[in-house]
Order: sequence, then C-alpha cells, then structure tokens
Amino acid sequence: MLSTPSGSELELARDQMREMLDAVADRIMDYQDRMAGGGYPASYLQDSEPADYDEGRRASALLREDDVPRVGSDLDSLLSDIFERVITNGMVHPHPGMLSHVPSGGLFQAAVGEFIARILNRFVGVWAATPGFTQIESNVIRWFCTMLGYGEGSFGYLTTGGSIANFMGVRCAVDNSGDTGGRLATVYVSDQGHFSVEKAAKLAGVDPCRVRTIGTDDNYTMDVDQLRDRVEHDRGRGLTPTLVVATAGTTNTGAVDDLRSISELCRRQNIWLHTDACFGGFFGITERGRKLLAGIEESDSVAVDAHKSLFLPHGTSALLVRDRTNLRAAFEVPGASYIPELTDDPEYVDFCNYGPELTREVRGLTAWLPIKMHGIDAFTDTLDQKLDLAERLSACLATFEELEVVARERTHLPVINFRVRAATPEESAERTEQLCKLICARANVYVTTTRLPREGLVIRACVMHHRTGPLIVDQLLEDVRGSLKEMTQEALSHDIH
Ligand SMILES: *Cc1c(COP(=O)(O)O)cnc(C)c1O
Repeated sequence: MLSTPSGSELELARDQMREMLDAVADRIMDYQDRMAGGGYPASYLQDSEPADYDEGRRASALLREDDVPRVGSDLDSLLSDIFERVITNGMVHPHPGMLSHVPSGGLFQAAVGEFIARILNRFVGVWAATPGFTQIESNVIRWFCTMLGYGEGSFGYLTTGGSIANFMGVRCAVDNSGDTGGRLATVYVSDQGHFSVEKAAKLAGVDPCRVRTIGTDDNYTMDVDQLRDRVEHDRGRGLTPTLVVATAGTTNTGAVDDLRSISELCRRQNIWLHTDACFGGFFGITERGRKLLAGIEESDSVAVDAHKSLFLPHGTSALLVRDRTNLRAAFEVPGASYIPELTDDPEYVDFCNYGPELTREVRGLTAWLPIKMHGIDAFTDTLDQKLDLAERLSACLATFEELEVVARERTHLPVINFRVRAATPEESAERTEQLCKLICARANVYVTTTRLPREGLVIRACVMHHRTGPLIVDQLLEDVRGSLKEMTQEALSHDIH
C-alpha cells in the first residue's frame, strides 16, 4: 500500500498530531477538574432574561470576527479562546446543577466515541462504503427498538435531534396515508406537546393550521375523548385525520399520555400514531418507566433523544418505526450511477434509503461505546436514581409551608413543578418569579419558570443530568430556603419603611 506524504501544508506530521492531542487533552482535563471543583456556575444568565443579557452581548461582541483569517494562529491561543472566552457565558448544560429544560451532561466516553468516529471519517450513507460502521449503527438502532419493546421488523434512523426525528415521523405518516402531498392531512397533539411537532408538520407539507391542539386532563395528559371528537369532526368535514402525536414525557411536567387508549383509537380510525418520547423514551429500561410507557410499542413510530435520557452529548437521537418498510417507503428514491451499488437485502442497510441524508457523520459510535463499556444496566440504575431524586425533591419541597408542589395522580418523569402560595394567582406568579431569580442568582443550580394551564407560573426543576446527585438536590433545597428567607426579610423591611 502507498505511503504518501502529500506536501500539503494542511497535513500534520505525526509529532504535530501527538502534540495537538496532548495539548487538547490537558485543556480538557483542566476543564473537567474545574467543573468537578465547582469552578463554573450552573448558568451565567442568573437573574437576567436572555433578551437583555449584557454579559452575553459582551461575549458575542468580543468573539465577533467578520473577515476570514488569512494567516494561521498558534493552537494554544485558540484553545484559550475556546476554554476561557467561548464557554464562560450563557447556560452551562454540562453542570450538574443545571436543572432547567431536559439537561444531560453529555457522557465523556460518548464524546470520545464521537471523536474517534470523526477521525476515522468513514461514509455511512451506503452499506458497501462501510459495512462495519453500518452494522454498529444498526446494532444501536436495534438496541433502542428493544428498549422500547419494539419487536421483529422494527428499525429506525439515528438523527441529530428529536426535532428531526419528529419530522421524519410526520413524513412517514403523511406518506403512509396515501395523500403524499398532505393537502387534506390533519395532525393532533396535546396542548402540552412539544413545539417541534408543529415545525415537523410544516416541514412535512402539512398546513400548520391543520395541526389541532387537544386539551389535557388533570395529569396534563391528552384528553382522549376530546381527541376522538375532533377526529370525527374533521372526518365529517372531508379532511383526512392522518397523524396523532402522543407525548411520552412533556417538557413542562414530565407527563406521559395514555398511550394504550390513544393507540386503540388510532388503530380503529386508521390513523398513524407517532409518540414523541424525546424526553421519556429511554425510561422504558426502568421498571417504573416501563409501566408509565405501557403501550408505546404499539406506536407506528417513536422519536427518542439519546442526548436526553441516555445522557449522551447533544446530537444523538432516533426515529424508530414498528415496521421498517414504512420508513423505507417514505425516504427511498432510486440511487445514482456514481454511488456504490445499493443493496436490496434488508440485512444490509443503505442508510440513505431510510432517512433524508446521504453524507453525514457516523453517529452510532457515540451511543455504542458507552453502552458497550458499561452495559445497559448502568444506564437503568442512573435513570432510577433520577426518579428517586425527583421524588425526594418533591417530598422535601412539600414540607415548605410557603410552597405548593404541583401534584399528579400518576407517576411521571423526573420533573418537579412548584410555586409560592399567595392570596391571588397574580401575587403567586410574581413571588414565584422572584423566588426563581433568587435561586438562580446563587449560581449553584439553574431552574426556570414555565406556565401551566391550571397553576399558572411555576418553577420547574428537571433532574436528568447523570452527575446530578443528592448533593445537588440538597443544594437546591438550601437555596430555596435561603431565597424564601430573603423574600420574607425584604417584605418585612418594606413594611417597616
Ligand atoms: C427535547 C424535545 C424535543 C426536541 O428535541 P431536540 O433534540 O431538542 O430537537 C421534542 N419533543 C420533546 C418532548 C422534547 O423533550
């Protein structure tokens, strides 16, 4: 085989590569030490809104560079830019005190898997180009299917995020309905569904005004009677009810729709059921989660985010389908003469036939490496720990007489909502907002507020980071206690003056 120094100034010599890896490794280890030692706040945003966030504006202005650099810079100064200037603003998602949104710290070992994949840089669009990596990625997809209870014949596609997975699910539904232009298609999702569903519908050619919002019940799960009425009403008007999007883990409260009842309705009405399980899907590997997600395996398609409930770094999600032929039908077109011959054998997958992309990075290694290294039980244990921590947090918050914790009958995913008790809803909202700001100003944990149809403004804490342990929950409780005290003292001093 050829050994070919290229003469290109872009090509690094072996020693230079080694030096570069060492320099980067040193920076990464310093960063890890600093993170573990509490050297970063959970968020730099603290008490200001993103819209008038001066520190963020200053950081952007300092980093702005309109002209392409003509000459090179020293690596060390570039690493300083990244590790000192680029990351010291905004929200710190890898921080164990990050309790807003659906955080996941991003497992180190998964990032290393992705790094290896990028260095090896094989082409995973068609099987013949990399049978090895295609198989690794197929294994990961099969594992994900099994975790949800999908059987033989199921398959999927690894995406960069849940939004793309939701888009692919909607596209499968529209394609499967026969009305491939989606002209008469209607889509149903609860008022607690994720906003990416509307975007997915738009991308898939469904008029956004045909996306129906269905109300929710006491548990913030979809009102199935209302869904049935709306479907029948639309059918009566000559429209084509095409897709119901159930949510397995709402962003607001972690509620999981009644998947069995919804799937029964969909089967009877011949409607595609897509379950948006971006938040909750992988809880299927825990016992409590399995109960909560009962019936998910009856969905025609499911979107899952491994960068949420499998703790991977951002960029690994999947669209899974009960019947792989539906996925292929939605995305396949005949190949071209300039790419390797496409296979017909279902054992050997050309991924370009199962999704919208041709060239893309190898995604499988990011999930494969940590799952193979630890075994799936380690993930089950970690998810169970999050459920336990959330329960403990909820119970402890309920002991504060100033607070009301939003209660639900059914168990749910590890999101806790609470607000300050007050004589009026307006006063409660105002004081809850104030409490949230005071908690965040302490920079130990970061929580945000959201608005619920019944309770109005609440603080939302989501315990999902693999490194969020009992100490962080205790810290949150201490910060709540301290902040409530500050509010009382402030109120008293107002009364005196
Ligand atoms: C996060 C989330 C999404 C969007 O997923 P991305 O990976 O952010 O694109 C969709 N639905 C639900 C329920 C989610 O939690």
